[in-house]
Parts: sequence; structure tokens; C-alpha cells
Amino acid sequence: MFSFLVFRRCWIVSVLLAYALLPSAFAQSCGSHGVAVQVLGSGGPELQDKRASSSYLVWQDGRARALVDAGGGSALRFGESGAQMSQLDVIFFTHFHVDHSGDFSALVKSSWFEDRKRPLPVYGPEGNDFMPSTTEFVADFFGDQHGAYRYLSELLEPGEEGSYKLQPHNVTGSEKPIPVFRDGDLAAQAVRVIHGGVPALAWRIEIGGKHIVFTGDTNGEGGLTQLAANADLLIAHNAVPEGAVGVERKLHMPPSVIGQIAADAHVKHLVLSHRMLRTLGKEDQTRSEIRKRYAGPLDFANDLDCFAVQ
Ligand SMILES: [Zn+2]
Repeated sequence: MFSFLVFRRCWIVSVLLAYALLPSAFAQSCGSHGVAVQVLGSGGPELQDKRASSSYLVWQDGRARALVDAGGGSALRFGESGAQMSQLDVIFFTHFHVDHSGDFSALVKSSWFEDRKRPLPVYGPEGNDFMPSTTEFVADFFGDQHGAYRYLSELLEPGEEGSYKLQPHNVTGSEKPIPVFRDGDLAAQAVRVIHGGVPALAWRIEIGGKHIVFTGDTNGEGGLTQLAANADLLIAHNAVPEGAVGVERKLHMPPSVIGQIAADAHVKHLVLSHRMLRTLGKEDQTRSEIRKRYAGPLDFANDLDCFAVQ
């Protein structure tokens, strides 16, 4: 009897250990079948919102295929999601404010410990006097001369063996959607959007016949409605409440504008994210402004929420 109990206890310990050693096999619950978007960061930039900053994972049949933005805190959420950097086909950036890009280097460093061999394309906006272009942004981290993390510069050095390569690309956006990326059944289009003086893009990802649109941060002017036409899922940023004025309104779209775009574009599902302290707690007001214009399914995002794309 004693030996049986010992055996049984060891067996249980072994099983628990296996679970601990293989978190991705068991933690992964988003997108195991079909296409889904997992919200890695639903808040930002304020840490007091207790949310990670902007970041989204596009899953297909249990594999994390595309990452959109990588704001602060999203690297931890990425790990919690069960995803692997080696699974990703591509990273898209909407712009390079900290709350959309601050965890990029943490994700890349984590990938060092994975068996990634193929290149990782990174697409984002061009630069201007205020912001780096996508190629400059990546080089600012990993460039061998002046990169802050030049100890990882082999990620950008063509001749270096031993690691995969980052492949950054600058996207010149326009008001009309332009095709930017295609890899098998995963494709992406972008439009330029207005976010103050910061070069910014909105993205439309087509995967497995589904269409998902990410507004990023924008005041709603530009080609967003055209980009979002008939999308299966629109993820819009609820960074300001109705009635916002001044700089807030120049940078972001209030709920009435989000609702109008969702209605005009006939999107099938609207999710509100980038929830800041100034919009948290105002969900009833936000919902009612949107409902005046858009009648489809509407959800408020929280970190690690998983939205199946039907
Ligand atoms: Zn933002």
C-alpha cells in the first residue's frame, strides 16, 4: 500500500511537472479552430488602468500568425496567451508611440530562446521629423553601430549565421487601401490615418477568408471607412469620450465617429479597445453614442479576451 501511494504521488507530481514545463500546450485556448483575435493589451499608456498597452494577436487553427503593435505589458500577455514568437509570420505596427511599440525588444529577445530560423517581416509607417521610420525604429534597437541593443545586431546583419533575421519595411500609406503583404492565405492592406503629426497606419488583415481591421490611434479622418468595408471584425480605439476637444480630439476619435465608421463600413462586429482612464467607467455613454449609428454586435475589450472571427 505504501509503495502504491508513493508511486501515485510521483505520478501526480510528474503530470503536474509536465503541465508546468509545457505551458503553451495547455494555456492556449484562443483560436484553436478557425480565426480569432486575442487582445494582448486593451489599455495604455497609463499603467493605472491595470491593462497592457495596445497589442493584438491574430490566431488561426491554434497558431499565432500575426502581431499588431506591441505596447508596454504586451510581452507578458504574449507569454500568457501561450503563443510562440517562432509561430509568427509577420508583425505590423500602426505607429511608434510607446504604448504601441514599447515591448517590441522584449518580444524579440524572448524569441532568441526559440527555434526560429525563417525571417520575421516587420511592417510599419514611414518616418518624419518627430518619429523614426520602421527601418529606423528597428535599427535604433538592433543596429550594430548605434542600436541600444547592438549585442543582438546579428538579427539585422545579412552575413551573420546563427539567428533569424528581422526584415523591417516602411509603408507609404495613402487614403486608398494598398496591398502590403501576402504569405499564403495571410494578406494585409494599409491606409494612412491621421494621429496628430505622427505617421500612422490602419491595417486590414485577411486570413482564412476572414477580414479583420485595426484602426490603431486616429481621429477618424482618412481612408478608414474604405479599409473597413464589410470587415468581419473592426477593432477601434476608445481613447477619448464623447465631447473630447483640443489635442485629445485631434489625436483620437470619439464614440460617435467610431459608430459612424462601423455603420458606413457595414462591419459585422465592433470591439472597442485602448480603453483609457478617461473612457473607463463611461461604457454606457459610449455604447449609447455608438448605438445611435451602429446596430451590430459591440464588445469592450479586456486583456487576453479572445474574439472568434465568424
Ligand atoms: Zn495609443
